[in-house]
Amino acid sequence: MTPPSIQPQPCTDPNCRGRHAPAERVALAVSLCGARGAQLTRLRRQILEMLWERGRPTGAYDLIEALKRRDSRPVGPPTVYRALEFLISQGLVSKIESRNAYVPCAHPERRQDCLFFVCSNCGESVELEDPRVEQLLAQDAADLGFRVTRRVVEVEGTCATCIAAGAA
Ligand SMILES: [Zn+2]
Ligand SMILES: [Zn+2]
Ligand SMILES: [Zn+2]
Repeated sequence: MTPPSIQPQPCTDPNCRGRHAPAERVALAVSLCGARGAQLTRLRRQILEMLWERGRPTGAYDLIEALKRRDSRPVGPPTVYRALEFLISQGLVSKIESRNAYVPCAHPERRQDCLFFVCSNCGESVELEDPRVEQLLAQDAADLGFRVTRRVVEVEGTCATCIAAGAA
Protein backbone atom coordinates (compact mmCIF):
# COMPACT_ATOMS: atom_id res chain seq x y z
CA MET A 1 0.00 0.00 0.00
CA THR A 2 1.13 3.51 -0.75
CA PRO A 3 2.31 5.49 2.25
CA PRO A 4 0.34 8.74 2.60
CA SER A 5 3.56 10.78 2.20
CA ILE A 6 3.61 10.16 -1.58
CA GLN A 7 2.07 13.08 -3.44
CA PRO A 8 0.92 12.98 -7.05
CA GLN A 9 3.20 14.92 -9.40
CA PRO A 10 1.61 15.89 -12.72
CA CYS A 11 3.94 14.81 -15.54
CA THR A 12 5.66 17.65 -17.38
CA ASP A 13 8.17 15.61 -19.38
CA PRO A 14 7.01 15.04 -22.98
CA ASN A 15 9.74 12.41 -23.39
CA CYS A 16 9.02 10.39 -20.24
CA ARG A 17 7.87 7.41 -22.36
CA GLY A 18 5.39 6.57 -19.66
CA ARG A 19 8.08 5.79 -17.09
CA HIS A 20 6.86 6.87 -13.68
CA ALA A 21 7.18 5.67 -10.10
CA PRO A 22 4.29 3.23 -9.51
CA ALA A 23 3.49 4.57 -6.03
CA GLU A 24 3.24 8.13 -7.34
CA ARG A 25 0.92 7.13 -10.22
CA VAL A 26 -1.30 5.14 -7.81
CA ALA A 27 -1.44 8.20 -5.53
CA LEU A 28 -2.45 10.23 -8.59
CA ALA A 29 -5.23 7.72 -9.38
CA VAL A 30 -6.49 8.00 -5.79
CA SER A 31 -6.66 11.80 -6.06
CA LEU A 32 -8.26 11.75 -9.56
CA CYS A 33 -10.94 9.30 -8.45
CA GLY A 34 -11.53 11.37 -5.31
CA ALA A 35 -12.01 14.52 -7.38
CA ARG A 36 -14.38 12.71 -9.79
CA GLY A 37 -16.36 11.05 -7.03
CA ALA A 38 -15.39 7.64 -8.47
CA GLN A 39 -14.96 4.75 -6.05
CA LEU A 40 -11.41 3.37 -6.19
CA THR A 41 -12.15 0.35 -4.00
CA ARG A 42 -9.41 -1.73 -2.38
CA LEU A 43 -9.55 -4.34 -5.15
CA ARG A 44 -9.50 -1.76 -7.96
CA ARG A 45 -6.53 -0.07 -6.34
CA GLN A 46 -4.71 -3.38 -5.81
CA ILE A 47 -5.13 -4.25 -9.47
CA LEU A 48 -3.84 -0.84 -10.54
CA GLU A 49 -0.84 -1.23 -8.20
CA MET A 50 -0.05 -4.67 -9.61
CA LEU A 51 -0.22 -3.38 -13.18
CA TRP A 52 2.11 -0.48 -12.35
CA GLU A 53 4.54 -2.75 -10.51
CA ARG A 54 4.68 -5.20 -13.43
CA GLY A 55 5.10 -2.47 -16.00
CA ARG A 56 4.16 -4.72 -18.91
CA PRO A 57 0.90 -5.93 -20.45
CA THR A 58 -0.65 -8.43 -18.05
CA GLY A 59 -3.59 -10.75 -18.68
CA ALA A 60 -6.61 -10.97 -16.39
CA TYR A 61 -5.73 -14.52 -15.29
CA ASP A 62 -2.22 -13.47 -14.23
CA LEU A 63 -3.87 -10.75 -12.13
CA ILE A 64 -6.28 -13.26 -10.58
CA GLU A 65 -3.34 -15.54 -9.68
CA ALA A 66 -1.34 -12.66 -8.23
CA LEU A 67 -4.34 -11.52 -6.18
CA LYS A 68 -4.72 -15.05 -4.82
CA ARG A 69 -1.08 -15.08 -3.71
CA ARG A 70 -1.31 -11.63 -2.21
CA ASP A 71 -4.57 -12.01 -0.33
CA SER A 72 -5.08 -15.78 -0.05
CA ARG A 73 -8.72 -14.85 -0.69
CA PRO A 74 -9.81 -16.03 -4.12
CA VAL A 75 -11.29 -13.34 -6.35
CA GLY A 76 -13.56 -14.51 -9.15
CA PRO A 77 -12.89 -13.56 -12.77
CA PRO A 78 -16.13 -11.51 -13.11
CA THR A 79 -15.07 -9.36 -10.15
CA VAL A 80 -11.65 -8.77 -11.68
CA TYR A 81 -13.12 -7.97 -15.11
CA ARG A 82 -15.53 -5.49 -13.53
CA ALA A 83 -12.63 -3.83 -11.68
CA LEU A 84 -10.65 -3.63 -14.95
CA GLU A 85 -13.66 -2.10 -16.72
CA PHE A 86 -13.86 0.55 -14.02
CA LEU A 87 -10.14 1.32 -14.33
CA ILE A 88 -10.49 1.59 -18.12
CA SER A 89 -13.55 3.85 -17.84
CA GLN A 90 -11.52 6.17 -15.60
CA GLY A 91 -8.64 6.25 -18.10
CA LEU A 92 -6.34 4.61 -15.54
CA VAL A 93 -5.78 1.41 -17.52
CA SER A 94 -5.71 0.54 -21.22
CA LYS A 95 -6.45 -2.80 -22.78
CA ILE A 96 -3.94 -4.01 -25.36
CA GLU A 97 -6.44 -5.81 -27.56
CA SER A 98 -3.82 -7.65 -29.63
CA ARG A 99 -2.46 -9.35 -26.49
CA ASN A 100 -5.70 -9.45 -24.49
CA ALA A 101 -3.75 -7.80 -21.70
CA TYR A 102 -3.89 -4.68 -19.57
CA VAL A 103 -1.41 -1.89 -18.90
CA PRO A 104 -1.68 1.18 -16.70
CA CYS A 105 -2.19 4.42 -18.59
CA ALA A 106 0.80 6.65 -17.91
CA HIS A 107 -1.09 9.96 -17.92
CA PRO A 108 -4.65 9.65 -16.69
CA GLU A 109 -4.52 13.32 -15.67
CA ARG A 110 -4.36 14.32 -19.33
CA ARG A 111 -6.95 12.01 -20.94
CA GLN A 112 -4.84 11.93 -24.07
CA ASP A 113 -4.55 9.11 -26.58
CA CYS A 114 -2.59 6.06 -25.62
CA LEU A 115 -0.06 4.97 -28.20
CA PHE A 116 1.59 1.66 -27.28
CA PHE A 117 4.62 -0.05 -28.78
CA VAL A 118 4.53 -3.68 -27.70
CA CYS A 119 7.50 -6.06 -28.11
CA SER A 120 6.32 -9.50 -29.20
CA ASN A 121 9.63 -11.01 -28.02
CA CYS A 122 9.89 -9.84 -24.38
CA GLY A 123 6.35 -8.53 -23.85
CA GLU A 124 7.47 -5.07 -22.73
CA SER A 125 5.37 -2.10 -23.78
CA VAL A 126 6.23 1.57 -24.05
CA GLU A 127 3.57 4.26 -24.00
CA LEU A 128 4.13 7.40 -26.04
CA GLU A 129 2.18 10.51 -26.76
CA ASP A 130 2.28 11.86 -30.26
CA PRO A 131 0.08 14.88 -30.95
CA ARG A 132 0.51 14.27 -34.70
CA VAL A 133 -1.24 10.90 -34.46
CA GLU A 134 -3.92 12.43 -32.27
CA GLN A 135 -4.53 15.19 -34.82
CA LEU A 136 -4.68 12.76 -37.74
CA LEU A 137 -7.22 10.54 -35.99
CA ALA A 138 -9.28 13.54 -34.90
CA GLN A 139 -9.30 14.81 -38.50
CA ASP A 140 -10.27 11.38 -39.90
CA ALA A 141 -13.05 11.08 -37.34
CA ALA A 142 -14.31 14.58 -38.18
CA ASP A 143 -14.30 13.74 -41.91
CA LEU A 144 -16.38 10.64 -41.18
CA GLY A 145 -18.67 12.48 -38.80
CA PHE A 146 -17.60 9.87 -36.27
CA ARG A 147 -17.72 10.46 -32.54
CA VAL A 148 -14.72 8.80 -30.88
CA THR A 149 -15.15 7.23 -27.45
CA ARG A 150 -11.88 5.34 -27.14
CA ARG A 151 -8.60 5.52 -28.98
CA VAL A 152 -5.82 3.07 -28.26
CA VAL A 153 -3.16 2.65 -30.92
CA GLU A 154 -1.08 -0.53 -30.69
CA VAL A 155 2.12 -1.11 -32.62
CA GLU A 156 3.61 -4.59 -32.36
CA GLY A 157 7.21 -5.50 -33.17
CA THR A 158 10.64 -5.96 -31.58
CA CYS A 159 12.01 -3.51 -29.02
CA ALA A 160 15.49 -1.96 -29.21
CA THR A 161 16.74 -4.09 -26.30
CA CYS A 162 15.68 -7.33 -28.00
CA ILE A 163 17.13 -6.22 -31.34
CA ALA A 164 20.46 -5.44 -29.62
CA ALA A 165 20.35 -8.87 -27.94
CA GLY A 166 19.97 -10.51 -31.35
CA ALA A 167 16.31 -11.54 -31.10
CA ALA A 168 14.40 -11.59 -34.41
ZN1 LIG B 1 5.01 11.23 -18.04
ZN1 LIG C 1 -2.22 6.43 -21.72
ZN1 LIG D 1 11.70 -6.74 -26.34
